[in-house]
Amino acid sequence: MLTKAKDFLQSYFGYDEFRRGQDTIIQKVLAGEDTLGIMPTGGGKSICYQIPALSLRGITIVVSPLISLMKDQVDALEKAGIPSTFINSTITGEEMRERMSGLYNGKYKLVYIAPERLETDYFLRLLDEVHVSLVAIDEAHCISQWGHDFRPSYLLIRELINRIKPKPVVLGLTATATPQVREDIRQLLDIHVENTVVTGFERENLRFHVVKGQDRDLFLIDYIQKNSGQAGIVYAATRKEVERLYHLLKAKGIAVGKYHAGISEKSRERYQEQFLYDDIDVMVATNAFGMGINKSNVRFVIHYHIPRNMESYYQEAGRAGRDGEESDCILLFAPQDSHIQSFLIDQSEMDEHRKENEFGKLRKMIAYGHTESCLQQYILHYFGEEDANICGKCGNCTDDREQVDVTVEAQMALSCIRRMNERFGKTMIAKVLTGSSDQKIRSFGFDQLSTYGIMKDKTQKETTEFIDFLTAEGYLRPTDGSYPILMLTEMARDVLHGKEKVMRKEKARITQIVEDNMLF
Ligand code: ADP
Repeated sequence: MLTKAKDFLQSYFGYDEFRRGQDTIIQKVLAGEDTLGIMPTGGGKSICYQIPALSLRGITIVVSPLISLMKDQVDALEKAGIPSTFINSTITGEEMRERMSGLYNGKYKLVYIAPERLETDYFLRLLDEVHVSLVAIDEAHCISQWGHDFRPSYLLIRELINRIKPKPVVLGLTATATPQVREDIRQLLDIHVENTVVTGFERENLRFHVVKGQDRDLFLIDYIQKNSGQAGIVYAATRKEVERLYHLLKAKGIAVGKYHAGISEKSRERYQEQFLYDDIDVMVATNAFGMGINKSNVRFVIHYHIPRNMESYYQEAGRAGRDGEESDCILLFAPQDSHIQSFLIDQSEMDEHRKENEFGKLRKMIAYGHTESCLQQYILHYFGEEDANICGKCGNCTDDREQVDVTVEAQMALSCIRRMNERFGKTMIAKVLTGSSDQKIRSFGFDQLSTYGIMKDKTQKETTEFIDFLTAEGYLRPTDGSYPILMLTEMARDVLHGKEKVMRKEKARITQIVEDNMLF
């Protein structure tokens, strides 16, 4: 079975070997098993359904939300000699009729559709007439309310599958799914847990960095100037900030473009083309940019603001280095920025349960900014790769500041939290530790605790940072919600019992991502 698949890989795509996971997924699909494939962006998901589509009788339906990509994908397939088409809102009625009749007549092996098409009668009627062997669902996390990009139309996919007789094989594919989202996809698509194929999320050529406590504008200009001629993306949270940074960089003579939903489609396309063809080096953009981009030589992705969750971060940062060359993924971290994201979650239409879930995700993103452990490993753990190794080259792995033993301070903070019955958030805890005379502290009687003022040689800000550090390192577990309560974890209890030491890098450093001295 696989020999034939490998022949197809060579003859149609010109590749000699399958990438990790591709062969397993293809084998399962050809054996008629419904499968969930989780592979990082650029991992080669398309081939996982394109090769089965060639082997199986009838057609393969590919459901994808990325309308802008469909044409390119179909063009590429046609070029490779694989008859395919797409049906979405960008084609005329005439084209639609032609394509539909092509499908009835067995002209195509693959058809890409946007999930909204599943609501249309004519499409559903087609399903009664043709033989569909495989339904591939790209960006499968869109089906889950717990994912970062829920699309209600994805819920129609189940009906689509039920309608097709005989039952087609189902293949869900995604690059970003936490264990919770995976479980949800499996339930909604009825896929057995043992048919989940997860391949390494690790991107060996990416160097992750978190830059904090520095002037972000200066850092940005300096970094880009030192890497002049290299392609890079700078993500900012709002259109206004994109505009500001665009003008800032332009004024420095940097060949820069911009992209956000407030720019006319024509200009957006122009900038995108210029970026693709290396006429501009740097694209400053909101997260609206990138979905349709397949530029392989992006050497750096800088996030000027913190994204909403790790899924978005890894997806956006992962646009660097798709050609396998060494690339930088830098987060310019200012904890106060998370307020923008909190606000957006709070103002959104989501129900309370989903909002809490979103806050939880945002907190893990913030903890990424605070952690002193390997950044790559932090990301991989987030995506459920428990046995991930340290990368040895991220900003934290290469941070050679000496480690200081902060066990005693950690014990102070943790025992204070215990004495406050693990019912408060970091601001309140920091106030008690630093001996604030806040009325609320007295009303709770916390000024009577033995830990009251025990860290009064530190400022409240330093103490809050220390609590953030303890949270990021897993000693404290925040509850969901916008004002999380911090609770002790098993690790914290070991520290309190003197069984574990807590080590922290010395304070204050100037990040040196580019080789020599930066002047800040
Ligand atoms: P994804 O959808 O997972 O982001 P794609 O399917 O677009 O990734 O594949 C990313 C790139 O990798 C494409 O250029 C594709 O042609 C290439 N690719 C896929 N499989 C292989 C393989 N087995 N060997 C070499 N290149 C591959």
